[in-house]
Amino acid sequence: MKNKLYKSLFLGISSAIAATASYALISPKNIEPNNITTTLLLPKVKSTTTLISLPVVSDPIVSENTDLSDSEPTLINTPVNTPVNIPASTTLAPKLKTVVHKIKKGESLSSIFSKLKLKQIDLYNIIHAKENGNQFRSIAANKELIAHIDSNNVLKQLVYKKDFITSIIATRSKEAFDIEVISTPIEIKIASVQTTIKSSLFLDGKEAGFSDKLTMQLAKIFGWDIDFALSLRKNDQITVVYEKLYVDGKEFGTGNILSAEFVNQGTSFTAVRFEDDQGNTGYYTPNGKSMRKAFLRTPVHFARISSHFNLKRKHPVLNKIRAHKGVDYAARTGTAIKSTGNGKIIFRGNKGGYGRVVIVQHGKKYSTLYAHLSKFKKGQRTGSTIKQGQVIGYVGRSGLATGSHLHYEFLVNGKHQNPLTVKLPLSQPIKESLLAKFKQQTQPLVAQLDKVKATTLLAENTQ
Ligand SMILES: [Zn+2]
Repeated sequence: MKNKLYKSLFLGISSAIAATASYALISPKNIEPNNITTTLLLPKVKSTTTLISLPVVSDPIVSENTDLSDSEPTLINTPVNTPVNIPASTTLAPKLKTVVHKIKKGESLSSIFSKLKLKQIDLYNIIHAKENGNQFRSIAANKELIAHIDSNNVLKQLVYKKDFITSIIATRSKEAFDIEVISTPIEIKIASVQTTIKSSLFLDGKEAGFSDKLTMQLAKIFGWDIDFALSLRKNDQITVVYEKLYVDGKEFGTGNILSAEFVNQGTSFTAVRFEDDQGNTGYYTPNGKSMRKAFLRTPVHFARISSHFNLKRKHPVLNKIRAHKGVDYAARTGTAIKSTGNGKIIFRGNKGGYGRVVIVQHGKKYSTLYAHLSKFKKGQRTGSTIKQGQVIGYVGRSGLATGSHLHYEFLVNGKHQNPLTVKLPLSQPIKESLLAKFKQQTQPLVAQLDKVKATTLLAENTQ
């Protein structure tokens, strides 16, 4: 059994498929199965499409060791080996000194200028330069500032490496500075992975090579149908087709999930990403129904169910048969409680054994009730409009409660329903007029998902 689990996981990892796709190819309709090459190593870059073209660097800078006398530890006295993005139009003096300064916590551009013995007037001119000069105001710790300085200690160019792909460059032009924002092109490759749950989405995902971001995205996409804290089981299967991002041939993160399948306790849920004409994106079933529901399944995260919906339950405090018309979630006092749907607060106050209660009305048909709160959310009152997922209060044990928990009720037309099994209304499906575009865009994603699954199956059968 254990062996099989390991095998599944191993297969999950080894069945990773990567395909090259240029940025232009990212429109899913262009992803053809032929584009996919099954390989364990990432394939060589076939093509990259420049987002913002980089100017050609004709090596105008000669780096040499800095000779700053106060041997400031943050100064790296070595030549810069990363290419510096110099606008081709700018001619710099042939011999410049390059100082790479790693920004420390608490440092300001002004204090860095002082350390480097640069003129404060240059700093003023840089941050006041038109368009993007003000971006130098928001320098952050642990990022790099690269100064190119001439033999008279005059700043010729200042480069701020804002993130992995973006540099803000100030280049002297007489007394003023020209500012440029340069992005290194990102290459996107389509990758896929399949894994089997052994313990948790997070741990097994990590083992399969999911980034934290990817795991969070998965939890968000499938969180409407699957309660990850309560209903995940051993042998649940996850297959994901997603974007891997590269800069200069180096992987630096993951992009969007394009399609994914989650088999939870034998039930399969499939999601595909769709972008409409306005650029709005969302996840849908292959039939065009939104993965997003009108209600969240659970109002608290990381809680366990301590008591189920039961119309014949013996009340733990009263010790009498008293229907339990909701679900109890045991959670620490102070845990945030979220409204499971959009709506309006119709009650907020004390209600006997329920203690502090919030009731939210969702349209005409639905209402939800949250009881035993320790505190209400500040700034809300009866009549306040509430968004799905918005915090309305905090878990406690007010009223008749044996311990800290949330008592949650779900009512349809005034009648109590089991919140765990009630059929949750869907939000709007894809518009009829978009259906053709939807199919065209998402069918290749479903095909790709199927291909990953087939590859894994084949690998399993030939073992
Ligand atoms: Zn209860």
